[in-house]
Amino acid sequence: MDEFGSFGSILIQFKNKLNKKWNRTGQYDSFLTKMGSINKIPKNDKNFLCLTTSPGVLGTKGGKTVDFKRTESQKALQASARAFARNEIEPEAREFDEKGLFPWDTFRKMGREGFLGITVPASYGGGNGGAMEYSILCEEIAKTSAAYIHNGHYQTEKMLIHHGTQEQRRELLPKLASGEYLAATAVSETGVGSSFNAMASTARREKDGYILNGEKVHINDAAEAQIINFFAMAPQGLTVFLVDPKLPGFFIREKMDPIGLRASPIYSFRLQEYRVPESRRVGEEGQGARAFFSAFNRSRIGNASCLLGIAAGALEKAIAFIKDRKVGNKVVADFQGIRWMVAELSTKLEAVGLLRDRAAWMEDQGEDPVRETSMAKLLAGEVSMEVVSQAIQLTGSHGCYRDTPFERYLRDAKCLCIAGGTLEVMKNNIARQILG
Ligand SMILES: Cc1cc2nc3c(=O)[nH]c(=O)nc-3n(C[C@H](O)[C@H](O)[C@H](O)COP(=O)(O)OP(=O)(O)OC[C@H]3O[C@@H](n4cnc5c(N)ncnc54)[C@H](O)[C@@H]3O)c2cc1C
Repeated sequence: MDEFGSFGSILIQFKNKLNKKWNRTGQYDSFLTKMGSINKIPKNDKNFLCLTTSPGVLGTKGGKTVDFKRTESQKALQASARAFARNEIEPEAREFDEKGLFPWDTFRKMGREGFLGITVPASYGGGNGGAMEYSILCEEIAKTSAAYIHNGHYQTEKMLIHHGTQEQRRELLPKLASGEYLAATAVSETGVGSSFNAMASTARREKDGYILNGEKVHINDAAEAQIINFFAMAPQGLTVFLVDPKLPGFFIREKMDPIGLRASPIYSFRLQEYRVPESRRVGEEGQGARAFFSAFNRSRIGNASCLLGIAAGALEKAIAFIKDRKVGNKVVADFQGIRWMVAELSTKLEAVGLLRDRAAWMEDQGEDPVRETSMAKLLAGEVSMEVVSQAIQLTGSHGCYRDTPFERYLRDAKCLCIAGGTLEVMKNNIARQILG
């Protein structure tokens, strides 16, 4: 390996070839100058986009071998999640979507399968998995219905694992992993979406705890959850508290009527003079942003995986259809234009998969891949909307009916381009990492 990494040597070889071939005309001088300056950038320079930092491309990163090939246990997880989605979720997904109901029986079964505690340490009853296992799970479940991935639940687990006290972990993680408890995350307010600077919810200090006041909107599973992590401004700044909706001072205001992810119902709720002991604070007072970012890095990977799963599910169904469907005496899958469409969409999905795998791999190495998780979600959102729309196109009129899953895929994908951070916010994250 030279001082610029293996990609650096490839660039130098390429430049030498260019020198030989093109210098006679002098036309490419400025291009060559640029190539030269690229070669001077050391391999660990953060601004060098992904050329020397991309583990999926180079095969090594920081001396570690990068291998996205699934392990035997990951393959087993993939197979069991796929079978579960087909056998348990597919038969009921449309009904729960239409009624906007939380699928309790299936949720509990997901707990028994180990899906709800997939990333919880084994010592707390979980599956000990990392971001890669979480990605596999999200992708397979979302091929049938992304609404069955309850983001707030996994976010709460992540916050407790990294910022909770030993007592909070011991009490709550086994219950969350088994599905005895459902958890939700409450950040958004009418004035707080893409930025939480204007958070109006407050935590007032009392002698042995806090009094919480505030109103949250767009909160998945708020009425069903046994525990809600609630973000509020305490005297030292943004802080997370564990709220039990059964206790006095908690009021559901409205069940909302979203276009997508409807089996994970959405509510607005209010806390009024709600009392929490200090033992229900997650992390230090004023450290809420740290908990938020650690949970949302992970959930962006989950969002990207769900978007990938939705698109893959739609394309799989469209491919099965066009291989069977005859127009005149020709099978649709034999038309050149249709074949190219499938090739292009599949290529884009593969690119999303690689970007997502890279982000998950980096998270599992203990890095803080804000840029990579944001890139994965951004591309997954754009590609998913395109793939689902084109999958309908491939089926002609047949995918235009509500008894097919296509319109649900479209609605769910759109919601995932907003929930957990919009695609514009992803672009801001990426630009900030590159430009400062
Ligand atoms: C289905 C669904 C489920 C949800 N579940 C939850 C939940 O469980 N818990 C929870 O706390 N929240 C939840 N949310 C809320 C979600 O996190 C917010 O909707 C999201 O963060 C965007 O905030 P907003 O809707 O207020 O949009 P706004 O922040 O008002 O943004 C409006 C538009 O402006 C763009 N924009 C905003 N700021 C910038 C900027 N700086 N630069 C460029 N463009 C910008 C946005 O991208 C968007 O296009 C959910 C939302 C949906 C749709």
